[in-house]
Amino acid sequence: MATVFEKIIAGELPANILHRDDRVVAFTDIRPAAPTHVLVVPTKVIETVDDIGDEDEALVGHMIIVARDLARRLGIASDGYRLIFNCRTHGGQEVYHLHLHLLGGRVLGPLVQRG
Ligand code: AMP
Repeated sequence: MATVFEKIIAGELPANILHRDDRVVAFTDIRPAAPTHVLVVPTKVIETVDDIGDEDEALVGHMIIVARDLARRLGIASDGYRLIFNCRTHGGQEVYHLHLHLLGGRVLGPLVQRG
């Protein structure tokens, strides 16, 4: 079963695409948790962070570089931002296609609730 992100990559589902190259697609999160909330998604199907292979090292680095450039382009770099990978159930992952969240545009508060 194709995930929603595979459908967006294939152009079968609409998305506000901010960047596309031969390895990743970046688009606005449909339920933004911050004024800027972008997802950087590899076109290669990798379900979770735990499924990243050693051969994917350059791809994962590229995802971070794309997020860095988008943060600059979207005007949130100087104030700062957060990059998040959620992995499986305890990490709060909803879509099982690797993605990097880029969040910013306000003070984001603590990373996780304590206790
Ligand atoms: P995660 O919890 O890390 O798996 O994050 C999945 C993210 O995908 C959530 O923030 C959702 O709001 C977002 N999302 C789900 N469906 C779509 C969609 N069709 N377009 C854009 N973002 C989506």
